Amino acid sequence: MTKAPRASSNSSPALDREKHSGKVRELDVGTYDIAYLRRLEAHWVIEGEDEPHDPDLERDDGHLTEFDRFVEEVHRTRTACPYCNSKLRAAEYSPDGDEFYILSACLRCAYWQWFSAEEYEIQLIAAASVLRRYEERLPEECHAELVRQLNMTPGRWSELSPKGLEQLVAAVFRANYANAEALHVGRTGDGGVDVLFIESGGNEWLIQAKRREKVDAAEGVSTLRSLLGAMVLRQRKYGVIVSTADHFTYYAQKEAKVAAALGWRIELIDRGILNRMVGALLPGQPWRKFLENNFSSSPQLLVELNNYFATQLPVAEGYDPLGLRKSRR
Ligand SMILES: [Zn+2]
Repeated sequence: MTKAPRASSNSSPALDREKHSGKVRELDVGTYDIAYLRRLEAHWVIEGEDEPHDPDLERDDGHLTEFDRFVEEVHRTRTACPYCNSKLRAAEYSPDGDEFYILSACLRCAYWQWFSAEEYEIQLIAAASVLRRYEERLPEECHAELVRQLNMTPGRWSELSPKGLEQLVAAVFRANYANAEALHVGRTGDGGVDVLFIESGGNEWLIQAKRREKVDAAEGVSTLRSLLGAMVLRQRKYGVIVSTADHFTYYAQKEAKVAAALGWRIELIDRGILNRMVGALLPGQPWRKFLENNFSSSPQLLVELNNYFATQLPVAEGYDPLGLRKSRR
């Protein structure tokens, strides 16, 4: 009974390790939604190709091929997300000593990757999700895709159109507060209200969304006064300013406290908080389809794998910057 090799292991009995001077190249996964490599009796197969045996991909004389090296030196040793550089969370399922299933996932942008061996050395599978390239004009519904892009490239926050940001903010509040509704109401001359957020209890929050050109900008007190004006005119006690700015100025924070003392509550949400909230728009367990495709021949194992990884790598929970879940209920 040999112990299955781990991702961190330096030596793998499954693959002969030889020193190569050639550099490892990233796999060109092209148009596939899933980059999928499977080794069956020492052959790599790329999903979607009938005859995949590019001589380059096959092993010869026990030397490591490009693919072997890629899996050993890049795929299995990867600790950070290749898209947004967050730390990958890894979980290993190993029901007995001879088989193992390792799923690593980025809970920030929904990237995931897989490495497994069933009946040791007979079938090895390595796979990684591929995020689509950024399209300049995403349809409005593609918020999950947009969130991935924003996590990868924070500068994109300032490239959103004002209307695009308002719609994203409405979607973000809807995703984090399942029992509430968020309506995009922003129009020109609307008096500074872009999104109306309605709690299940009936409280209405006026939300103003501000996009700042510079990512390190500060949101100032004038935005706060403009929203406060709208709240007074509409007789609404709750307001939120969502800004792509890095932080709010000292005076904005100070006046928000003064307003709160007078009964006008305004929550300030900067890009840091926004980043925590957008996670709720990402798909949960994006690897499920891959598991289905690969393990549907053993339904019992499929169920075990799904259950195990759903527990080990839970989706990011909704974030509650308004404190609605604990208070006033
Ligand atoms: Zn990521």
